Amino acid sequence: MVVPCFNEEDVLERTHARLTHALAGENVDLELIYVDDGSRDGTADVLRELLATDARVRVVRLSRNFGHQVAVTAGLDHATGAVVVLIDADLQDPPEVIAEMLARWRDGFDVAYGRRLDRAGETPLKLLTARWFYRVMNWISETPIPADVGDFRLLDRGVVDALKQMPEADRFLRGMVSWVGFRQTQVLYHREARAAGQSKYPLARMMRLAVDGILSFSNWPLRMSLWAGAALVVAGLVGAVCLCGLRFVGHESIADWSIVLAALAIIGGMQLLAIGAVGEYVSRVYRQSRGRPLYVTAERLGFAAVEQRRQTA
Ligand code: UDP
Ligand code: MG
Repeated sequence: MVVPCFNEEDVLERTHARLTHALAGENVDLELIYVDDGSRDGTADVLRELLATDARVRVVRLSRNFGHQVAVTAGLDHATGAVVVLIDADLQDPPEVIAEMLARWRDGFDVAYGRRLDRAGETPLKLLTARWFYRVMNWISETPIPADVGDFRLLDRGVVDALKQMPEADRFLRGMVSWVGFRQTQVLYHREARAAGQSKYPLARMMRLAVDGILSFSNWPLRMSLWAGAALVVAGLVGAVCLCGLRFVGHESIADWSIVLAALAIIGGMQLLAIGAVGEYVSRVYRQSRGRPLYVTAERLGFAAVEQRRQTA
């Protein structure tokens, strides 16, 4: 299990209890990797307590807050299981669903992603933006990405290894998992309200994730400016021809400056849009070419047993 945690001191103990309880009936050799994504509250202390009481717990502490997608990546890098399940720390994704995911995996699927039937306790704004985001995303993405699906999912070792070979700096994991391929299936569930604490995804971050998703999996914004530019040129030519024709047959009253002004505004706007789209991609190329590591680890706890096993093997 990989559990990203950012300021989750209120909920972590409950999360751990419910996770381990939900999987108690399954015949699995459990490893719980909590990634502390630079929390500023007591999260690290709670994790240390868990570490002391449960030998299955591992803790990866990042040196600062790197964001949810990178925290999950750090967890995937440290996971050793034949199967890895990604789950949020706030119990919005019911751990009881994992049993069903495992069943799908035993049926031979490599990815079982949780698909939300509904979402309790979310703001109307979040519901609306999420709904539209998934629709638009699917429409323009080069890789089909299922709608109403978050990062709550089960991944086979083969998928995890494939993900580890994708070094992209702007990470949109659900898109990356779709891109990887293999046999994928969905498991339906009801998304609950947060068990405690506040959402760590304010609007600005949600928008960032949406932009990452769109630009990483679609060249549509670039292409759109191209087509819009072409359409404008055609429209401008047609307009100019019509205008000149009307003048020619004697319609002196047409104020051509107003038409010119409108055309200028449209064309100026389109140029800005196109430059903006190019800029977004260029900034990505730049970030990727710097080749920085995705995250910096401050501390790894509970991995001694894993190391030992590796050495004796
Ligand atoms: N999270 C994280 N780093 C961040 C933001 C969030 O590791 O910078 C974790 C958070 O602790 C939670 C999960 O990512 O386990 C999902 O975040 P949250 O529940 O706040 O998002 P929401 O469910 O509101 O979209
Ligand atoms: Mg949440």
